[in-house]
Parts: sequence; structure tokens; C-alpha cells
Amino acid sequence: MNEWNIQSRAHACEACQQHFADQQAYHTLLLDVPPDLRRTDICGSCWQKQSAHDAAPPAGFISHWQGVYEAPPPVVDAIQKETAETLLRKLIEQNDPCHAAAGYILAVMLERKRVLKVKEQIVRDGQRTFIYEQPRTGDIFTIADPDLHLDQLEQVQRDVAALLEHGLNPPLTAAENQLAATPAVAIEI
Ligand SMILES: [Zn+2]
Repeated sequence: MNEWNIQSRAHACEACQQHFADQQAYHTLLLDVPPDLRRTDICGSCWQKQSAHDAAPPAGFISHWQGVYEAPPPVVDAIQKETAETLLRKLIEQNDPCHAAAGYILAVMLERKRVLKVKEQIVRDGQRTFIYEQPRTGDIFTIADPDLHLDQLEQVQRDVAALLEHGLNPPLTAAENQLAATPAVAIEI
């Protein structure tokens, strides 16, 4: 599977296609559909119909939780300071394996800051994988544990600090990474 990805909360029920209203409760099902983990968002009445109808959980069932839909805010300004969250989103979008460790560290930072919540921890193909939720947007982040050794941690923390300070583009060369060895942004993990 993809080692990391983001699955956004749906804006409508997957079963009945009705648009969610602001502050409407909905249910998320997390399913193991090889090769991917898949989320399904359904409204309360479809959830009730399904649970009344099916005694057993659906195939590949991993987890279920309830959320409250928040209508997306209007887009105000396109220029936005790089934050740990926007950086993590870009890293996942770029899907460059050399940033996998940095992505993991960012997710840990965001969890400590309570921006992300751990929903599940699963082991797939021998690899520990975390399912995080951004409660405000309802987005789910799938992040594989890169199994960092202590002696790698310092370098990754420097990479993260450099990324936060300079942004993802242009990508840093190894030489620039060396120059960025003294981070201006303190990383606490
Ligand atoms: Zn529905």
C-alpha cells in the first residue's frame, strides 16, 4: 500500500448521497481494502439502517467513529505561512520516500500539539502504521512508522527544522542540509 496518504472527509453520505449539513453528525468506517485503507463516511440514518440490517461488521472492518461535519470555511487568503500541518500535507502530496521520516516526525509533533489525534495503530505487512485524524477538517492521515533509530533521529529533526524554515520548494540538497545543521526552529519531540 501507499505508506502514507490523506483521505478527506466526504461532503456527502456515501450511501444516500445526501450532502452533510454544518454540525451534522456522521459516521466514519475505516476498512482494509487491499492494497489500501479506505474510509467511508455515512450519515446517521444510513448508519442506523446498515447496523439494523447487518449483524456482522463489513469486510475488512478496522475501526468506526463518529464525527461532526463542519462546513468548510470560505477560502480567504492563498498565501499562508508554512506550518507543520501544511508541510506534512505537501510531503504526503509529493510522496517522496526520502521525506517519509520527516513526515512521521511532523505527525508526532502535531499529535503532541493536539492538532492531530491518533485514531488507530495497526500493523500491516509487518509495518506499524498510524491513522491520525485532523478533527477540524475530519481528514485522515495514514502515516507509516519509519522505525527510526536514535542515531538517525537528530538528522531527521534537522531536516524537519530546515523544511519548516525554508519550505519544501526548492528541495534541499545534501550540502544545504549541512548548512541548515543549526536549526532556527526548535523541534521538540
Ligand atoms: Zn445517508
